[in-house]
Amino acid sequence: MTSQNQNSYPATGTLADHPRGADSEVLLKGVVIYGEGEPQDVLLRDGVIAEIGSGLSSEGETLDLQGQILLPGLVDMHVHLREPGREDTETIATGSASAAQGGFTAVFTMANTAPVTDNPSIAETVWFKGQNTNLCDVHPVGSISKGLEGKDLTEFGMMADSDAKVRMFSDDGKCVDDPRLMRRAIEYSKGVDVLLAQHCEEPRLTETAVAHEGATSARLGLSGWPRVAEESIVARDAIMARDYGGRLHICHASTEGTVELLKWAKEQDIPLTAEVTPHHLLLTDEKLESYDGVYRVNPPLREQRDVQALRQALIDGVIDCVATDHAPHGSEEKCCEFDRARPGMLGLETSLALIAQIFVLNGDQDWRFVARVMSERPAEITKLPGHGRPIAVGEPANLCVVDTSDEWVAYGEEMASKSRNTPYEGMTMPVRVSTTVLRGKVTCRDGKASV
Ligand SMILES: [Zn+2]
Repeated sequence: MTSQNQNSYPATGTLADHPRGADSEVLLKGVVIYGEGEPQDVLLRDGVIAEIGSGLSSEGETLDLQGQILLPGLVDMHVHLREPGREDTETIATGSASAAQGGFTAVFTMANTAPVTDNPSIAETVWFKGQNTNLCDVHPVGSISKGLEGKDLTEFGMMADSDAKVRMFSDDGKCVDDPRLMRRAIEYSKGVDVLLAQHCEEPRLTETAVAHEGATSARLGLSGWPRVAEESIVARDAIMARDYGGRLHICHASTEGTVELLKWAKEQDIPLTAEVTPHHLLLTDEKLESYDGVYRVNPPLREQRDVQALRQALIDGVIDCVATDHAPHGSEEKCCEFDRARPGMLGLETSLALIAQIFVLNGDQDWRFVARVMSERPAEITKLPGHGRPIAVGEPANLCVVDTSDEWVAYGEEMASKSRNTPYEGMTMPVRVSTTVLRGKVTCRDGKASV
């Protein structure tokens, strides 16, 4: 990704071949680039960074962002925007607004829609709706198997060649547990150079599971989801990637053992990447004491030692990036008995603040780290042009700005998402995304999506 410049951007889809960036100027006044050095002015013109300096002025809109942190726009490899099929819980428009408010300029929306995104026409519908909304690039993920049934492969090539330019395939929500199907998927994926993202869950070990298998699930009488159900698939897929190649990606790593396996795979130079969610980096299964369905998620919240291992793995690069697994659900699906609640949590609007809280505000890591794990690495893994790029003159103006003096309290009611299932209700967030810019167009202003 080092040689790409604005001339090779963008390469995704027909509408994006004529990106509707702002044709006027936007001036970001007084931002601290990557949180390093003195405040600078950054002038955006025609969708690219035109000038960086001090005392710049502009005919266009000027945003006074004195002392705020400028980062590349965030990229989320794993969201569920629920369209088509469950527009009552999220749409591409509301999900895009949620993404813009969270600082994201590109998201990948999973294929477990209704109907399933298993053919070019649904993928193109999602892609064009995202482009029409124009708050965030919404890349559809194609399913690996037709109808997510785990039997027949979809047409990777046709989806990759469609206007949606599908570059990632996943049966997320379900695991491709059949090793023969996974082997065929890898072999097919290599010919069309697409990424396969695996939801690692051996289904025969989790048939009735609703919570992490451990002391808490035993005490609360909840059916357990053992670590081995995840780790056995991670191990199998690491070995498949070693022997068959391809590009494999592990969704939402959640256990200490998965970290050990990833470490082993990276030491062998196996082409395997991985993501972790903010909730697995912060919360443990002790939250389940409340029996509140908002804490049901798949894979489940684990234990403190898993949280510690995941944090260290992200710092060390054993886990490559953060992905939110933003999963909106209606209140009737969450406010019910714990074992009837649908798994999944909102994530887009709180992720930057949580990652800052866990890693940066305590002085452990710097803002470059955030740029790496929330923008640069996900863009590299998905081979996504134009995003996760350096902040430099001539680069695409896909950016976000973080106000470290704007503490706020998370309330589902106030989010841009159509759903309310945030596990952080009432929690103080230490920083806020004030501004997001997509190809020079301001998509979030003063913390609110520009709808
Ligand atoms: Zn999943």
